[in-house]
Amino acid sequence: MKPEEKKLLADVRTGLFVDGDWRSAEDGATFDVEDPSTGKVLTSVADATPADGAAALDAAAAAQESWAATSPRERAELLRCVFEAVTARAEDFALLMTMEMGKPLAEARGEVAYGAEFLRWFSEEAPRISGRFATAPDGKSRLVVLKRPVGPCLLITPWNFPLAMATRKIAPAIAAGCTMVLKPAALTPLTAALFTQVLSDAGLPAGVLNVIPTTAAGAVTGPLIKDSRLRKLSFTGSTPVGRKLLADSAHQVLRTSMELGGNAPFLVFGDADLDAAVDGAMVAKLRNMGEACTSANRFIVHTSVAKEFSRKLVERMARLRPARGTEPDSDLGPLIDAASRDKVHGLVRDAVVRGAEVLTGGAPIDGPGYFYPPTVITGVSEDARILSEEVFGPVAPIITFDTEDQAVNLANNTEYGLVSYAFTRDLRRGMRLMERLDSGMFGLNSGIVSNPAAPFGGVKQSGLGREGGLEGIEEFLEARYAGIADPFAG
Ligand code: NAP
Repeated sequence: MKPEEKKLLADVRTGLFVDGDWRSAEDGATFDVEDPSTGKVLTSVADATPADGAAALDAAAAAQESWAATSPRERAELLRCVFEAVTARAEDFALLMTMEMGKPLAEARGEVAYGAEFLRWFSEEAPRISGRFATAPDGKSRLVVLKRPVGPCLLITPWNFPLAMATRKIAPAIAAGCTMVLKPAALTPLTAALFTQVLSDAGLPAGVLNVIPTTAAGAVTGPLIKDSRLRKLSFTGSTPVGRKLLADSAHQVLRTSMELGGNAPFLVFGDADLDAAVDGAMVAKLRNMGEACTSANRFIVHTSVAKEFSRKLVERMARLRPARGTEPDSDLGPLIDAASRDKVHGLVRDAVVRGAEVLTGGAPIDGPGYFYPPTVITGVSEDARILSEEVFGPVAPIITFDTEDQAVNLANNTEYGLVSYAFTRDLRRGMRLMERLDSGMFGLNSGIVSNPAAPFGGVKQSGLGREGGLEGIEEFLEARYAGIADPFAG
């Protein structure tokens, strides 16, 4: 470990954060956090128990009323101040994220900028929470609609974007006036700890945010989801876990936001600018080593350009250098753990057994860490698992089509519906695809869609609700209505 890494780790709090204090787990237990590029332990953090979870919700419930009574401007200024603080410490956040999650430093810096932007965006939205006033259609009463914070929220986040997935929930919750319990992923709890320290230093009142890393996610959060003081669950993670949490949420008809898995199609038409399509493919496939819900999972390419597109993509992918993310020339970090690497390789093997050809990559890299090389496969048969399962790794399977209808049918043939991408020079076709592709988001001649000012989210089994944009704050507000008797009546 380099000296600056040691110094940063020594600064990061490793306790639970409950009611404004850092503390040990109730039973004193801790768990280790690993560097996926070496397999070595970085540090250990407190391992919350169900009793710690209950204490966190006690604190959130106790703080809710006074927090909801703060002015929108006060909450906005706090968020703005946290935006400045995260930006000022961007290098620390980036390094810590690279250490615990593996992505190259340049990408981690990108995530810090993206994650911080939610703080700025929602600092600007907080003072714009508004209701409406109307005269009833029969003129006999007045209607007032007001927006109130939904109340204490449970936020559960994944390991792949340790900062941005947290700020995308915490910023709108703060803006709306909700208190929170955050359960970060056990694989990457350190970035959330540093962010919590920054929030606390900026003056976030005790109890507003409580953070409980744990290795017993279900046992700790299950009772909270059934506790009537909890009013909202916002979850980002896999579709199977999302389904289970939705079922659990039915118990008290809890409001939920679900940002779940994806199986993004990436369409390349015969008239596409192929160099632009390859640039887009590199971002859509390799951002975060392919460990992104928005990652292009299936390349669906017109037969007339399939050969050339594959050749150009292979050329670019084969040039990349996998290395520890802190190395200046690292293009690609490791996958998060051995199970993820083995799952990715299993999908490649399955495709090959069913007749696919490996054009580059195709086997795990030996040595410490969980590296898998950029991989391109063609001739993938329809029944290969890689076309229906989320890959979550740097593997690009290519299949071909002849007509636009065929491309759309292939693209929509999945239970997921998070994002689709298409490259074409024909704007009318682009507009048609925007309406025909069954996904919550669409990238036209662009391999990246994430933007704090836009509503991020999926249709079908990719989830419910939206994060970011004008819609993001609504997830943490509820509409209340008052009917007022006609002020002119007798
Ligand atoms: P995951 O296994 O579903 O875990 C997500 C979070 O849920 C983690 O904090 C995890 O805790 C927790 N969790 C797991 N089982 C739980 C349970 N029974 N009760 C309560 N919490 C539970 O997903 P992941 O592997 O971390 O993340 C990858 C997945 O997230 C992919 O499917 C990806 O597409 C999806 N994702 C979606 C979006 C989006 O915006 N749509 C964004 C990013 C990622 P532990 O990890 O500590 O066990």
